[in-house]
Amino acid sequence: MIKKISEEIYNKIDYVKSIVSIYPDEAIKISKEAYNLAKDNNLIIEEAYSLLSIAFASRIKSDISSIIDSSYKALAIFKDKNYIIGQIKSLNLIGIAYFYSSMYEEAIKYFLEGHELLKTTKDDSLLCSVLNNIGEVYRESEMYDKAIYYYDQAIEIVCKNNYTIHHAAILTNIGEIYFAKSDYKKALEIYNESYNLLIHENDIINLAEIENKIGKSHFEMGNIKKAKEYYFKALKRLQNINNKYYIIDVFINIAEINLEASEGSTLSFYEKAMGFAEDVGSKSKLCKVYKLISLYHEEQGDYKNALEYFKRYSSIKEEIMRVKLKSKLEILNIEFKNIEDKDKFDNMKLRLENEISRQKYNLKKIKSSNEMLERQVYEDELTGIQNRRSVNLYLSLMLKDMKSKEDLIALYVIDIDKFKKYNDCWGHPEGDQCIKKVANCIKSIQLDRDDIFGRYGGEEFIYISTHLDYKEALELGNHIRKEVEELDLYYMDKKEKRTVTISLGGVIGKSSNFSSMQKMIEIADMELYRAKDMGRNRTILKNINN
Ligand code: GH3
Ligand code: MG
Ligand code: MG
Repeated sequence: MIKKISEEIYNKIDYVKSIVSIYPDEAIKISKEAYNLAKDNNLIIEEAYSLLSIAFASRIKSDISSIIDSSYKALAIFKDKNYIIGQIKSLNLIGIAYFYSSMYEEAIKYFLEGHELLKTTKDDSLLCSVLNNIGEVYRESEMYDKAIYYYDQAIEIVCKNNYTIHHAAILTNIGEIYFAKSDYKKALEIYNESYNLLIHENDIINLAEIENKIGKSHFEMGNIKKAKEYYFKALKRLQNINNKYYIIDVFINIAEINLEASEGSTLSFYEKAMGFAEDVGSKSKLCKVYKLISLYHEEQGDYKNALEYFKRYSSIKEEIMRVKLKSKLEILNIEFKNIEDKDKFDNMKLRLENEISRQKYNLKKIKSSNEMLERQVYEDELTGIQNRRSVNLYLSLMLKDMKSKEDLIALYVIDIDKFKKYNDCWGHPEGDQCIKKVANCIKSIQLDRDDIFGRYGGEEFIYISTHLDYKEALELGNHIRKEVEELDLYYMDKKEKRTVTISLGGVIGKSSNFSSMQKMIEIADMELYRAKDMGRNRTILKNINN
């Protein structure tokens, strides 16, 4: 009777292995059934294996505290019963949980402990998994030589045993190292080797992943046609099994190709990627896509959307970091609960306390760095006035809003005269202070008038004012120029004292007079060059209101 129940439990565990990557929730449910059956019948070893089964299924769902909680419990039982293989499997899963939480030092400790135990018993499949995991930790920590050292040992074992899928996976990991080092030729060579192994297996997701990687290597090497060919192979494969998660990266790569070739459908591929990332609820993929979409809009001059997506990106990034920190604490708590000897207990308590205060500090840091990030979106770091992105945003919105109206817009490009000489005389840090003072001076004029003013780059600024006629706008330009001159900042040139001055090149017209924001700035810029040419410290304003 008991034998039959034990058999039933192992059957359930085997079944879990076969469905886990497709139906993780179902796999967890069945593992729990096995666990309850074992507990009810006092089958200790079966209980431990059921716990490992729960951990294994939780791994697919990246449920870190469940992996670690179940593996610790299993480990305790296997230790008690002196079951070496069970201990190694538990250690391996604990290591993976730490790895997923980016706690690499802890991860490597558990993998190495498993590796040690493997010297006393033979299990090639397990050994190769542990070696590969050690390699993964080193790769993630960018210690590539060490990573390859362990991957190579794993490869030796898979070759001996004909573990094709393992072999392909380890090769892919090695390929990633060469890719990270920008050795795309070597990466491609290894990816292809992995691909040739997989092509005979019916492992759709891994095949698609490697096709995507091969495509990306071709792309990096400038072979767009080949890249496309592989991306679309991967896409077709994944669409056939309706997999949304892995398609996201393929869409991103196709978007990148289209961007390079100016094919115009870039945004639609990014949007598809975003939709799928939302559907599968992957925060890390969403984070990646938001950032790319923000950059895309910025390049297209659509600053409003660029900002919108940048905000989404930074808020999801913060969320991801919070979750990571939270899971770190959860792990330590579980470790804490499972500790049995007294010395370790005290040690652990101290570690937990340290970790908690460190996490509190980290969270505070994230919060303030996020506030800073938000500000950085709009603000120039040195002067605290609006930055180029922000000026572009306001100006583009303003031009759009004013399209049908008769209102005039005046725009000045302002540049400090002979600023190189100022730096030469006082040094770069003093130069920075000078830029700050000039910025503050012009800002106080702007604040009185509700205009737009920002730093466009280096020692160059943009000032925008509406509702002025030509004469008033010219007066304003000269007022700004005089105010800066009266700051009485100076430098020495050939023993002569020179006052810091600015030149202003501007343009005034109706928004409909300008085909684009860029055009408007271009015209003003040309006037600035004329002002410089004519001897500097002057204002030139072009009237195109006709
Ligand atoms: P002009 O505009 O009158 O033709 O002469 P210039 O000397 O200002 O000429 P240019 O625009 O070519 O050089 C600008 C200099 O400003 C070059 C660079 O060293 C300096 N500069 C640009 N950005 C910064 C900055 O952020 N801090 C400091 N200290 N210097 C900067
Ligand atoms: Mg300049
Ligand atoms: Mg200059």
